[in-house]
Amino acid sequence: MEKEYILGIDVGGTNIRAGLVDESYQLTEFVIESSAQIVDKQDATDNLTEFVKNYLKAHAREKKVIGISIGFPSTIDKARKTVLSTPNIKGLDNVEVVDVLEEKLGISTFIDKDVNMLMLCDMYNGSIPDNGVTVGFYLGTGLGNAICIDGELLIGKNGASAELGHIPSRDVDGICGCGNKSCVELFASGKQLKYLCDTHFPDSFIGDIFKEHAQDLVIKKFIHDLAIPVATEINILDPDYIIIGGGLPQMDGFPKKQLEDAIHEFARKPYPEQNLSFSYSEPLQENGVIGAGIYGMKQIRRKRRQS
Ligand SMILES: [Zn+2]
Repeated sequence: MEKEYILGIDVGGTNIRAGLVDESYQLTEFVIESSAQIVDKQDATDNLTEFVKNYLKAHAREKKVIGISIGFPSTIDKARKTVLSTPNIKGLDNVEVVDVLEEKLGISTFIDKDVNMLMLCDMYNGSIPDNGVTVGFYLGTGLGNAICIDGELLIGKNGASAELGHIPSRDVDGICGCGNKSCVELFASGKQLKYLCDTHFPDSFIGDIFKEHAQDLVIKKFIHDLAIPVATEINILDPDYIIIGGGLPQMDGFPKKQLEDAIHEFARKPYPEQNLSFSYSEPLQENGVIGAGIYGMKQIRRKRRQS
C-alpha cells in the first residue's frame, strides 16, 4: 500500500517548523522558517494556508499526505477547531484554523496545544505506554503542562484543561499574562528567571545562569518554587509517568537533582512521593513536528475506525 504521511507543523513565536511524519512516526523533509512572515500578523489563516500549499508543492509532490496537524502555543476550543487566544503571537486569536484549511486545501486538519504535541513525541521516544496517567511539565518562558489519561489527552469542558501556570498562589506581585493576579507562572517560569538574572546577576548571560549561579540562594529558591506547581499536580493525579521538558531543563548546568529533591519534598508521603518516575524530554527541535504527526495519525486512525 502507498505510504501515508501527516504534515506536522509546530507554530512558535519565533519559528514555524514543519515536516512529513509517516505511519511509523519517522520524520522527513523537515524545515524551519521565521514565523514573522506567516503568523505574527493579521489574516494568519491566509498566510498559514499559503505556507502549507508551498510546503506541499516543494516537499510532498509524489507523496500521499492524509492530514495536516498543527501545534499552537495557544488556548484551543473544546472541538479542537479554533485557536482562541495566543498571548505571544499577533493574528492568532479567534482563528478558525481547521475549517479554513480544510475548505481551502481539502485535507483533514487537526490542531492542539503545542505541549500536547510535545508530550506525544516524548511518550513515543520514551516508550511510555498509553495505559495510565502521564503528565508533562514544559518549563520554558511560561509553564506548559499536558496530561494524558489512558491514551487520551485531557481537554476539559471548554478545552482549557492543564493550565498549570495559572494556579493561584498567595502573595505574588504582578499581573499574569492571563490577566489574573497571583498565578504561579509569575514565580515559576523562565520569565521569572530572566527577571532574577537581570536584577541579581546583571553581568551574567542568562544561558550561563545555572552553570555560574546554581548554588546561589536566589537560584536555589527559584528551583524550589518551580517544584510547587509540579508537585501540586503530582499530588492530585498520582501519575504513572512524569516528563520534564522545555527550555529551562535544557540549559547548561540546570540542577535536575535539586528540582527532583524539591518535588519529593512537596509530594504527599508515603505516596505518590515514594514512587515518582521522572524522565526528561530529549531537546530536539523536531519534537513538536513529530508530536503533531503522531497526533494527526491517531486522529485519522480514529476516524477510520468510526467509519
Ligand atoms: Zn495566569
